[in-house]
Amino acid sequence: MSDYMIRGMAANDQVRFFAAASTNTVEQARITHGLSPVVTNALGRLLTAGALMGAMCKNDTDKLTLRIQCQGPIKGMLVTADSKGNVKGYVSEPELLLPAKDLKEAIDLGVLSVIKDIGLKEPYMGDTHLVASNIAEDLTYYFATSDQIPSSVALGVLQNDDLTVRAAGGFIIQLMPFADEEIISYLETRLKGYSVTAELDRGKTPEDIIRDIFTDPAGGKSYDVSVTDTLPCVYCCDCSKERVEQAVISLGRRELAAMIADEKPIEVVCDFCRTKYSFAPEELLRMLSEGRVKN
Ligand code: ZN
Repeated sequence: MSDYMIRGMAANDQVRFFAAASTNTVEQARITHGLSPVVTNALGRLLTAGALMGAMCKNDTDKLTLRIQCQGPIKGMLVTADSKGNVKGYVSEPELLLPAKDLKEAIDLGVLSVIKDIGLKEPYMGDTHLVASNIAEDLTYYFATSDQIPSSVALGVLQNDDLTVRAAGGFIIQLMPFADEEIISYLETRLKGYSVTAELDRGKTPEDIIRDIFTDPAGGKSYDVSVTDTLPCVYCCDCSKERVEQAVISLGRRELAAMIADEKPIEVVCDFCRTKYSFAPEELLRMLSEGRVKN
């Protein structure tokens, strides 16, 4: 089954939701970067969150980046998503060996940055301190403090004994400003101790999970759920030799001249998809002579 996301409204439009099935996306990241179990869990959660938050963007060309810089041995992670379900990411220490569950130990204290590029000169950036180092609660805290939107974020990654990803997914549920006390307290109770990981393990789809949340298991009362869109969710890198050339050019005149003097081709590896790009000394010389190198 391909990965996908849904978005929609529930409880008489008092709540909006985004939910994802991201198993293949996370597995692709694991293979691309050779991720250890704990890093698959960490980056898998951040990728799922990035895809969901990308789907929250208003314009087709918007880009959303989530960055974690932390004291734990994982050191840092970065994920970029667009509004159409394309997501990619990388991590500083892909092979970190810790039990898969030990996110708090792997990440520890740090800062989560949410960077929104909506085509303005400078992207919008919001920083918050990590409060739980499990990414889901950290994002819940981010939405509450930076966006003033009461939210519930749940993320989960499950792995098989052979370390392949068995299931990954998550959701973001947000209260609209006019949400009434009844739905607020209902969700508070319903989501207390709710494990998206356990539900994914049972083979639940994003639709199942959202419907399940809005159905009271005790009273049998259910709220209306309306899925407005279904989007893909794919691990996808849009790098190209032209783009990488731009990065090489930005190294500057002096650096380029030194590389040309070495008389050997240079190799640049894309951080997101590990594709290797090679530039011969003649190509570097051409970049210099075309006057595209500014400094
Ligand atoms: Zn790439």
